[in-house]
Amino acid sequence: MSKKGIQSKDPHVLNLVKIVGVDPVRKSILYKKEDLLAYDCDGFTLRKHLPRAVVFPKNTAEVAAIVTYCHENDLPFLARGAGTGLSGGAIPLNGEVIISMVRMKKLLSVDFENRRAVVEPGFVNLKLTNSISDKGYYYAPDPSSQYCCTIGGNVAENAGGAHCLKYGVTTNHILGLEVVLPNGKVIEIGKDGVPDQPGYDLLGLLTGSEGTLGIVTKITVRILKNPEGKQTVLAYFDKVADGSKAVSDIISAGIVPAALEMMDKTAIEGVEAAAFPVGHPKDIEAVLLIEVDGIAAGLDEQINQILAVCNSNNVREVKAAQSEQERAKWWANRKTGFGAMGAISPDYIVQDGVIPRSKLPEVLKRINEISEEFSLRIANIFHAGDGNLHPLVLFDARIPGESEKALEAGSLCLKACADVGGTITGEHGVGIEKREEMRFVFTDEEIIAQTEIRQVFNSKNLLNAGKLFPSPGRCVEVKNEIAAAAAK
Ligand SMILES: Cc1cc2nc3c(=O)[nH]c(=O)nc-3n(C[C@H](O)[C@H](O)[C@H](O)COP(=O)(O)OP(=O)(O)OC[C@H]3O[C@@H](n4cnc5c(N)ncnc54)[C@H](O)[C@@H]3O)c2cc1C
Repeated sequence: MSKKGIQSKDPHVLNLVKIVGVDPVRKSILYKKEDLLAYDCDGFTLRKHLPRAVVFPKNTAEVAAIVTYCHENDLPFLARGAGTGLSGGAIPLNGEVIISMVRMKKLLSVDFENRRAVVEPGFVNLKLTNSISDKGYYYAPDPSSQYCCTIGGNVAENAGGAHCLKYGVTTNHILGLEVVLPNGKVIEIGKDGVPDQPGYDLLGLLTGSEGTLGIVTKITVRILKNPEGKQTVLAYFDKVADGSKAVSDIISAGIVPAALEMMDKTAIEGVEAAAFPVGHPKDIEAVLLIEVDGIAAGLDEQINQILAVCNSNNVREVKAAQSEQERAKWWANRKTGFGAMGAISPDYIVQDGVIPRSKLPEVLKRINEISEEFSLRIANIFHAGDGNLHPLVLFDARIPGESEKALEAGSLCLKACADVGGTITGEHGVGIEKREEMRFVFTDEEIIAQTEIRQVFNSKNLLNAGKLFPSPGRCVEVKNEIAAAAAK
């Protein structure tokens, strides 16, 4: 059977084509194995599954029709943005129909007076700032992947970024959402971007729900006025403990930098070997990239305080960016840090733990021990100011057993974070990668409470099943055990 050149015997593919139509220029549906291969994983490449098909809707009505079709025909489905997620959230574990949002990529409106913009979910993060910067505005959440990740994906993952220390993560910048629920019904939450709506905080619930409660089709975001001034410094430390102590001391001194980033020796080796080297000394143990912004008149004083803190923590050298070009080079060096690991290792996985800042030296020491125990190098590139660590476990997947070792080492890094009162993800989400690690921070009862919320929205569990929580089977068992105990 074929429909207008669609060579598929799958009746579901033929029915989905009826919804999205046949586009002679850009395919509106992919269903051949060779096309589907590009969608078998996201930025978490250790698990791969082929989707049933990939559909490219152009508007909310098409998304709703696809979802309704999947709901009525018991077809698993999930949304995908740019596929840069690092925890496997967009991997079609159950042969899902992938609903790709990349053709819904319009900037729908900008309201400078009320400081908000409305975008479609496939709109790329950095494009928003680029579209409004000539008027002196920007969009604050700045994941290092911002040149390609979508704002829909950012909402799903509650993405963070270097400047989230001062400005908050995605959830702090979302004013309204249009969502297609897993049964195909369309709802609007946070109507017209008016804050503090009565009722439950569905905006908060949906943001960070990792694509398990609905598919976001329109987003109202907060936009900010550019700060009047910015100053950026690099500080080099011979000892990682001194760099970590400087981070705590800067915040304890009452300074809230816009960004406070740290890279360790292995990370420096990677970024200096990759596309944007800036000449960091290779024999130091830590570099801090510190940025302050705000009213220009107050910045010198903040920088002087930061210099004093660095000096009192045995800094080897500290220097301020002398031009916007130099600042941009430093940020490119930092922001391409994950990819730079490719210059020193065939493979890596990136972890995403959060700890109280004061525990930095202790946890970095433990990560170092894990590296030695597993004979795997671990680089650390992270948002030090908010205690959001990114241990990058370097390995070679061609060596039998090394991928498993890397996963185990990564899991132990997260355990080290949980053990000091931290948690297992700051911004990359749980996906499939950290499902079991959810047990480091939640009891079974707490996990059940959350899966029951998912059940309310996603009653058939067709939308992105198997993500975010440990096996529902186990939770149901525990739930039954609790019920049985209560009945005694
Ligand atoms: C080099 C690199 C650097 C990174 N740096 C950062 C960083 O600094 N900070 C950070 O937070 N993250 C970072 N990430 C991770 C990633 O870019 C973010 O998680 C991003 O938000 C994912 O967006 P995406 O469009 O790629 O989403 P995808 O990977 O396509 O999807 C991610 C999840 O969102 C769901 N989803 C996508 N679109 C929708 C939608 N419209 N409605 C509902 N659910 C949806 C998917 O089902 C999936 O579960 C980085 C990734 C890379 C590769």
